[in-house]
Amino acid sequence: MKKNLETICVHGGWKAKKGEPQQLPIYQSTTFRYETSDQMARLFDLKDSGYFYTRLANPTNDAVAQKIAALEGGVGCVLTSSGQAANFYAIFNLCEAGGHIITSNNIYGGTFNLFGVTLKKLGIDCTFVDPEWDDAKIEACFRDNTRAFFGETISNPGGKIFDIQRFADMAHRHGVPLIVDNTFATPINCRPFEWGADIVTHSTTKYMDGHATQVGGAVVDSGNFDWDANKDRFPGLTTPDESYHGLTYTQSFGKMAYTTKLIVQLMRDLGSIPSPHNSFLLNLGLETLALRMRQHCANAQKVAEWLEKNEKVGWVNYAGLPSNPQYQLAKKYLPNGICGVIAFGLKGSREEAIRFMDNLDFISIVTHVADARTCVLHPASHTHRQLTDQQLREAGISPDLVRLSVGIENVDDIIADLQQAMAKM
Ligand SMILES: *Cc1c(COP(=O)(O)O)cnc(C)c1O
Repeated sequence: MKKNLETICVHGGWKAKKGEPQQLPIYQSTTFRYETSDQMARLFDLKDSGYFYTRLANPTNDAVAQKIAALEGGVGCVLTSSGQAANFYAIFNLCEAGGHIITSNNIYGGTFNLFGVTLKKLGIDCTFVDPEWDDAKIEACFRDNTRAFFGETISNPGGKIFDIQRFADMAHRHGVPLIVDNTFATPINCRPFEWGADIVTHSTTKYMDGHATQVGGAVVDSGNFDWDANKDRFPGLTTPDESYHGLTYTQSFGKMAYTTKLIVQLMRDLGSIPSPHNSFLLNLGLETLALRMRQHCANAQKVAEWLEKNEKVGWVNYAGLPSNPQYQLAKKYLPNGICGVIAFGLKGSREEAIRFMDNLDFISIVTHVADARTCVLHPASHTHRQLTDQQLREAGISPDLVRLSVGIENVDDIIADLQQAMAKM
């Protein structure tokens, strides 16, 4: 039976059979037992599927991965130990030394460093583009060795909306997939595959978990990108893998080629799986994701409108405000709501912004974002400290930007807390 998102949140992944636990069990075991040597050998040759070692597959992790794949409308999903690992694997599954990627420059600070610094050390070159450039200027960045285009549906922390359809079409014209980090939107508010994206990544640490209990990530494949039609760019998927007796992923696994390679090659060699216990916690969060997103969006809309009218506030970036230049783009991709995260700047000095944050009552200063509790962060002083002012601006972050992550508390209380802290500035 085809199910709606709210139902998948509750029922996706795990279905209890006769006498089995109603709640997803935690298979906290490194390994799984077989009765004959031959049974085990067939697993290692990828001739049979089955569990043998949790680094490669675990029933708890798999159930949660299947729920996320269903929410996104993908064919396969792999959970990782963090969002950083998810973005690294999503790229590294396609690209090796000598390769090149193009990314929007409106992205999370950790991803900015991963692409600009660490991938470079591995011999993968990265071009940062401003999504506001015209097509010709961005298309000029594609090269023969380009392997992927990357962007965030809603950028963290700037709150910029990524024009998924435009960049999917562009990537496909150049024979490469579009990878979209859908962390802030979640599949409840946007499903990038419906707009042509090929691969979706998540930091499940954020709304998907929603309670600040675990750090995790996910890579989801739509199964839509035709690797064989672009054989020369993706030899890792389309030519024999000597570490698996010469098996070719696209031939043996069809639409599951990308997901299978990510598990049996990258997870095998690099690790970074989530613990089954963390996946259990993530699954509890996912059960209420649709409910929570509704409340986050309703609260954030009211807070953004209040901030916009406030004389102490210099500017507000929330694409749900009709005055926002990205309002129409948000209506297209996020018709049911954007997310709880608002970026704004206070009038006055940097010290005053810090005084405002220090005077908040229940709204807390934390690095974390996108969970049930309202929280604030000043990226220039915290998460993005490593970036220069120039890099900050290139990443769409002004030095006075305050990131407010609106939680699911009573919105009147949230506004009252902001108001009393501003009064003390
Ligand atoms: C937090 C975040 C990440 C990194 O995820 P971790 O789980 O912290 O490793 C990546 N992308 C976006 C958009 C994020 O918000």
